[in-house]
Amino acid sequence: MTMTSSSMCYLNGEYLPLDEAKVSVLDRGFIFGDGVYEVIPVFNNKLFRINEHLTRLQNSLDAIKVSNPNTNNMWCDILNKLVSQHVDSELSVYIQVTRGVAPRDHAFPDAGNTTVFIMANPMQAVATDVIENGIEAITLDDIRWQFCNIKAISLLPNILLKQQAVEKGATEAILIRDGNVSEGTASNAFIVKNGVITTPPKTSMLLPGITRDLVVELAHQHNLPCEEKAITESELRLADEIWLTSSTKDIVAVTQLDKQQIGNRKPGEIYRKMLGLFQDFKKQLMTQ
Ligand code: PMP
Repeated sequence: MTMTSSSMCYLNGEYLPLDEAKVSVLDRGFIFGDGVYEVIPVFNNKLFRINEHLTRLQNSLDAIKVSNPNTNNMWCDILNKLVSQHVDSELSVYIQVTRGVAPRDHAFPDAGNTTVFIMANPMQAVATDVIENGIEAITLDDIRWQFCNIKAISLLPNILLKQQAVEKGATEAILIRDGNVSEGTASNAFIVKNGVITTPPKTSMLLPGITRDLVVELAHQHNLPCEEKAITESELRLADEIWLTSSTKDIVAVTQLDKQQIGNRKPGEIYRKMLGLFQDFKKQLMTQ
């Protein structure tokens, strides 16, 4: 099913059709981009890694000093109720929490009244061509701020960077800060060199991706050598394989970087192995 404007969403305690959901123009999310978000995949009607996503939401809220409007149990009830109102069993659920409506002033309002908005869109399956042939990426300077670990709704730098990639015919931009890879504009980055999988450590320079953590976990579980350490720009260019991970795209191989081929221009052997482990992990969850 494709998303229609009447797909159900949640806004501040109410379930209603998306085209009837309205927020004030004075919402600080609209005025300042003052809020945080989460994207949670749903497979077989089940929220995937929900505890990890809710922990990251809590960390983002703490970082911007907004108190969490719901307990984890309340979040799960709301999310499950919304998922049950959709016919698709594979969804991507978007949660946004802003500091709420207040007269426009940079300083926080005295009384906090958060705005909570949640929508669920059918998850687009990753195209077979992408799995078989990988994608093209470019490298760009990471022009973002110092708190990329916060999943902030203010995504202007990410959007501008992604658009540069699109205009160059690429799917994603891999960002370089001080000579090291940080992440993609909407994904985490991995390389494989001589059989060793490497991803940058979780610092404030990147979003701690839920998919990233699962890939690291699966590598350890299945005895695939895997390190969390800085990747230099030249290590990226000389990698045997490059992967990008995210909740909506799982794991995607980059087979062309800045028009140069990576590996033999086909997703590598370790990519295929990891994707298999990842898909098995999801299947297992579906049958539980
Ligand atoms: N980094 C950035 C900047 C992102 O926006 C995302 C996801 N949207 C990711 C990494 C991947 O995170 P996750 O695996 O939790 O989707």
